[in-house]
Amino acid sequence: MTIHNPLVRGSSVEFKVVVLRYDASDEIPPVVSDLSLEIKAGEFFVIVGPSGCGKSTLLRLVAGFLAPTAGAITVDGNLVTDPGPDRAMVFQSIDGPLLQWMNVRQNVAFGLKLQARNRKETFDPGLVDHWLRIVGLSNAADKLPSELSGGMKQRVQIARILAVKPNTILMDEPFAALDAQTRRLLQQQVSELWQDEGGTVVYVTHDIREAVLLGQRIGVMSAGPESNFRAIHEVDLAYPRDDFSPEFGKIARVVEEQIVEEVMQSWEV
Ligand code: ADP
Ligand code: MG
Repeated sequence: MTIHNPLVRGSSVEFKVVVLRYDASDEIPPVVSDLSLEIKAGEFFVIVGPSGCGKSTLLRLVAGFLAPTAGAITVDGNLVTDPGPDRAMVFQSIDGPLLQWMNVRQNVAFGLKLQARNRKETFDPGLVDHWLRIVGLSNAADKLPSELSGGMKQRVQIARILAVKPNTILMDEPFAALDAQTRRLLQQQVSELWQDEGGTVVYVTHDIREAVLLGQRIGVMSAGPESNFRAIHEVDLAYPRDDFSPEFGKIARVVEEQIVEEVMQSWEV
């Protein structure tokens, strides 16, 4: 598989026979069971699957917000035990993660300042301007989150997180709450940013078109409980992808059929 960014940056992420129960009792089956997966450094990996199958759970495990009941998650071969600045999560909720009392510029500067302090470097305000330009928010720099549209808030979140260049970027249905036009623009932007800047992206979506547009591989999860990957598809199409092309349609159809099958199975039990 080709990694499109020549300057490969990003961590490898591995799930090793992972079992996850939220409930300590053995009476109900675990949410995720014996799941193994290797995501390569610099890869864009998309996770799809029926609602409630455990997609967000997998991201929480990589983020270190949750510990597996059995098995292990490693990042660059190191066991994940806690959250760390090398792994950042972009959430669907467009309000939660923004600091409401800080304006757009301050929100984007926040992580960069923290990072500069940790590395004992001088904070470069030029970087904030750079990222505001990338996400098209230079003119909104002085606005508060409460004054922004949903799409703008999500762009602030993206700038804030990508600016610190985390090795691993975890995105949990980041554009699900946005209108179709804004979503389309942001999908393009995230794809271009990843191609330019690198980083490993683990991206959860229920939007199949989005999955095929963005992912180098798409993992389809089975319906829970005891979910796992039922198939992993390699999307061997060059970026930017044409969603009207027959090749695109072919992959989208297979993924769609598999998800529908899983949803139907979960209805029958
Ligand atoms: P998805 O993101 O695929 O929709 P989740 O990973 O959020 O699914 O959830 C997987 C399963 O785990 C669901 O059945 C959900 O109800 C359950 N679950 C999620 N979070 C918790 C929690 N904090 N406590 C108990 N059960 C949870
Ligand atoms: Mg979820």
